[in-house]
Amino acid sequence: MAGGSDAPPPKKFKPNIPAVDRSKLKKEREALPTWGVRQQLVDEIKQHKTIIVIGETGSGKSTQIPQFCNEAGVNGKLIIGVTQPRRVAAVTLANRVANEMDCEIGTRVGYNVRFENTTSAETTIAYVTDGMLLREALHDPLLKRYSLVVIDEAHERTLHTDIMFGVVKRAQKERSLNTSAMLPQLKLVVMSATMDVDAFSAYFDDAPVYFIEGRTYPVEMFYASKLDQGAAQDYVYNSLVTLLQLHKTEPVNDDMLVFLTGQEEIESAVRRTREISRNFDGKKRLEPIALYAAMAHQAQMKAFLPARQPNTRKVIFATNIAETSLTIPGIRIVIDSGKVKMRSYQAKSRIDLLRVASVSQAQACQRAGRAGREAPGKCYRLYSEKDFDKFTSDTQPEIERCSVSSVVLELLRMGVSDVMSFDFMKAPSQEALKAAIRELRLLGAIEDAETNEDGVGRHFALTDVGQLLVAFPIDPKLAKVLVAASDLGCLEEALTVVAALTHDTIFVTHSAKRAESSNARRKFEAPEGDHVMLLKVYRSFAHVKKTNDKKALRDWCQENFVQERVMQTIVLVRSQLRATCVQLKLTFSSCGNELDKLRKALCCGLFVNACDYDPSADGYKLLDSSLRVKIHPSSCLSRSKPTAIIFTQLIMTAQLYASYVTVVDPDWVKDILEGRKVQLFAS
Ligand code: ADP
Repeated sequence: MAGGSDAPPPKKFKPNIPAVDRSKLKKEREALPTWGVRQQLVDEIKQHKTIIVIGETGSGKSTQIPQFCNEAGVNGKLIIGVTQPRRVAAVTLANRVANEMDCEIGTRVGYNVRFENTTSAETTIAYVTDGMLLREALHDPLLKRYSLVVIDEAHERTLHTDIMFGVVKRAQKERSLNTSAMLPQLKLVVMSATMDVDAFSAYFDDAPVYFIEGRTYPVEMFYASKLDQGAAQDYVYNSLVTLLQLHKTEPVNDDMLVFLTGQEEIESAVRRTREISRNFDGKKRLEPIALYAAMAHQAQMKAFLPARQPNTRKVIFATNIAETSLTIPGIRIVIDSGKVKMRSYQAKSRIDLLRVASVSQAQACQRAGRAGREAPGKCYRLYSEKDFDKFTSDTQPEIERCSVSSVVLELLRMGVSDVMSFDFMKAPSQEALKAAIRELRLLGAIEDAETNEDGVGRHFALTDVGQLLVAFPIDPKLAKVLVAASDLGCLEEALTVVAALTHDTIFVTHSAKRAESSNARRKFEAPEGDHVMLLKVYRSFAHVKKTNDKKALRDWCQENFVQERVMQTIVLVRSQLRATCVQLKLTFSSCGNELDKLRKALCCGLFVNACDYDPSADGYKLLDSSLRVKIHPSSCLSRSKPTAIIFTQLIMTAQLYASYVTVVDPDWVKDILEGRKVQLFAS
């Protein structure tokens, strides 16, 4: 089985997970709550087009239900596709199931995630990220290779999961109408740990709901006493203090899982814990491990291995990635900061930003549940019971709180020309859809369709540019940067910058060595801005990497306070984006030091985020809204005041900051807008 047309070439990867004792594995399978009900489950799935399965995390939904269906031949000659919101879950589940089925990954069981497709013609169970299945649906909206799709972790309501609901429902309908294609019915199983059952059942035409009993152990809850506002804000510090206190009193074999919000603070917590642990000579030690979505697989797999040394406690600092989708052995204690990094979108001001927010009660309960998977556990909440009561009960679906430009592009690619009337489980607001359509028009990606039935403007079609943009699994604005760079003669540089922008930061922030780290960073600072700075770091890194001297590369990263792990992932992302550019026959060239070309290319995609300096506010005014922003303190332009800038993203902390900023010539923005039918909001 191959991925979508923009999938990277198949490559096999076997995570270094210890081999499992086969009879033990069998016993473990048979002890799972799903095992006892396997026949009923298979019968339900055979009888119905769609069923919904609700069961506690750990009941065996993700690993067992696809196997039961496969064993019972529900899928016939076609594939069972199991979607996961996250790469790491798809990889670990596929490995677990391959072990249970006693086969190599890439044979009967495989996974298909961004950067890696291990599925083959032999594959009957494929664990795929929902993003990858959506990519496949762009070229094959009927999902012809599948007879059963399992949408897992439905409660997370990620953007891709929500779109997949509509895409599978549409494929089911079309396959039942289109009997000439000789395709069997497409079956769907929607699985979740918790869920608004009624809404789901109603959306899937009154699909039956099947409940599976959980198998969890009691988790003792501890709450922080009421903290003042300032102390509560410093949740990273609070979690480290809690961790160290517990390390003194709790048995060393009880591993810990600490929930934080993102890459930067997780890496910093890992570093601080490692430093502190060095002083524990002779006593029980700590082995801190990071776990977040943007890490490379090999690095993520460390979380699943036992501590490397005896007398050592494993402490995993994770984002919400570890909330429901992953089984990490050994965890008995959870420390929950109560925070999560969330995207939020304000359609009115067309602002997509990242901010740290409180988790929902459902999320907090899932986090606590991680401590009771294998034995009774403990959960330390770094907030009071009163705070918990104030959290919202469920997490708001991502589709309601992010820009839907890429969704609109993808739907158009699948032939849904009237995106406003697509059968969404939860439709984005009209305002958000209109904002997306407007942004795509500005990017030159869509136009009114000739064949509209109810007046110009309701039906849209992709332009030639739009056809190119939709091939990239990234924000359409950044895809436009690549397409423009091909015309401007700087695609190599643009690829580097766009790949680097898939990470929060490439630098190590070292509180103990603040002066040294900012000196190191200064070497790369560029008067043109942060994007050129990213390019400079990458060029130096690539220069050392070319020598194949691993030690030299590690030393270079250490000296320059650059995260080696992140840089290695950026190299991978870049090569994947490059492969898509090859397929699209874009023109590869390097601009060398003519960096104006790169800045112009960036401007072609990010002009929607152009700002003018406003001396009265000592800040920047967005051209396309009335918002005022400041340049983020981490930017290399934070001390200068260029007349006009573009930025990649807004971050909300104490105030609204623009991050990853580049100086532009205001005339470039004017030139781009010339000939566009859509005017910028403020012009
Ligand atoms: P659910 O989908 O209901 O949360 P899973 O099928 O993911 O449940 O997991 C069922 C059980 O299988 C887990 O409780 C664990 O014991 C085992 N398991 C699943 N994945 C792994 C893995 N990667 N490594 C070790 N054990 C695993």
